[in-house]
Amino acid sequence: MDKLSVLMLGTGSPRPDLERAGSAQVLFIDSLPILIDCGEGTTAQLMKAGIAPEKVNHLWLTHLHSDHVLGYGQFLLGGWAMGRRKLTVVGPVGTKKFHETILGMFKEDIDYRTSLGRPSNGVLDVNVIEVDEAGKVECDLPANVTAEHMIHNVTTLAYRFDVGEKAVVFSGDTAPTPKLVELAKGADILIHDACLSTNVTYKNPSNPELQKIWTELQKEHCTPEQAGETAREAGVKQLILTHFLPNIDVEKAFCEAAEVFAGKVIVGKDLEKIEVK
Ligand SMILES: [Zn+2]
Ligand SMILES: [Zn+2]
Repeated sequence: MDKLSVLMLGTGSPRPDLERAGSAQVLFIDSLPILIDCGEGTTAQLMKAGIAPEKVNHLWLTHLHSDHVLGYGQFLLGGWAMGRRKLTVVGPVGTKKFHETILGMFKEDIDYRTSLGRPSNGVLDVNVIEVDEAGKVECDLPANVTAEHMIHNVTTLAYRFDVGEKAVVFSGDTAPTPKLVELAKGADILIHDACLSTNVTYKNPSNPELQKIWTELQKEHCTPEQAGETAREAGVKQLILTHFLPNIDVEKAFCEAAEVFAGKVIVGKDLEKIEVK
């Protein structure tokens, strides 16, 4: 029986935060690490957790917003420097262009390093798979993966990983949607966007710019309560909230979700590991 666990690498948002790195999680199938999103600081977070970046050969991107991909350059090139020779990247349409843009930006750098004798495998031959339609994703993982489109301001995919009888679901960034309820049906763990947790940054009514952003965010993210409702309707066992702006009220986020969802609620912290029981 495969053991499943989730490591929260980065539980932050686009706003720089010393306590929360950019969005990233690791799903472990036994000891096989699958990186989900690659926000700023991902490579350092992997190392802090004792995971060698070069041993991570699978990356799945939910979408191409900066807070989910800013760590990709370092993950790609740093991991290659440390000896990674094989990498598969799965993501929405646009992922190939994004990857090729990074390669283009650092062409001289890569050319120099290969001229010193480093093989180009692991950087110039990355297997990039774009997911266009919802449904089963063909991949070489020991899991059945299903993708579904979420509600955000760019194309965003949620992923469900089924391994034997167990399932883990990553929402990506989204407003509430019945599609996520459907995708997460009966899952053991749902990792869910709770960007709209009460926080000090957007509590200044005298700043109209922040007010406008906060209003817009309601259309493309969730409150802890909305995350809890999705977890309840889907009948998941554990709900992990993530994607927090700086200085959220952790207790309040927990209570809001726990009030509507009777299963286990975890307000995600960087480097916290959660096992599927
Ligand atoms: Zn986003
Ligand atoms: Zn985001």
